[in-house]
Amino acid sequence: MNLIFLGPPGAGKGTQAAVIAANKGIVALSTGDMLRAAVKAGTTIGMKAKAVMDRGELVSDEIVIGIIKDRIAEADCKPGFILDGFPRTLAQAAALDQLLANIGRKLDRVIEFKVDDGALLARIEKRAKDAIAAGQKPRADDNADALKTRLWAYYKETAPLIGYYFKCGNLISIDGLAPVEKVTAEIEKALK
Ligand code: AMP
Repeated sequence: MNLIFLGPPGAGKGTQAAVIAANKGIVALSTGDMLRAAVKAGTTIGMKAKAVMDRGELVSDEIVIGIIKDRIAEADCKPGFILDGFPRTLAQAAALDQLLANIGRKLDRVIEFKVDDGALLARIEKRAKDAIAAGQKPRADDNADALKTRLWAYYKETAPLIGYYFKCGNLISIDGLAPVEKVTAEIEKALK
């Protein structure tokens, strides 16, 4: 089963991707996590991406498409995957279609997380506070300024994908503001 979780930053995609991936025996792939790992490891990609990510802007299509192409070819992705945070532009969506066609696979569902912008800021601030409380460093882009840029990028570049996947006939929209367990149940129902 190959899925995309689509929605603005802070919508709960990562939380749900971890739960659904574990329930279905598939892998959750977050381009944001992969890029943060590259920044931490100081790789060439990480060095190119860091400042862009800190500002809340999008990293180039070329970089993220390259990362996903290599990752979905790995053995653990054979049973299926959830893409969290990819694709984020129409060019990435088109590249993904091509990548999947090349390896004889297809998308089963695209789950759109619907959330209200006001709630997102509260969630992002909570995520930063929780990280500090757990003795971790909060994400550099989990603050009000970067969130504004991330939301702007979402509406400008990523929201058009809702129409793209609607046209493909595999889009399902869910209420991302419901309690975590309810959102999980809604997604499980949509995947039946
Ligand atoms: P996320 O953890 O999904 O919120 O991603 C954090 C940041 O990583 C984003 O604000 C972008 O700078 C970058 N990023 C993650 N995925 C992508 C993508 N598919 N395309 C471009 N930039 C991305």
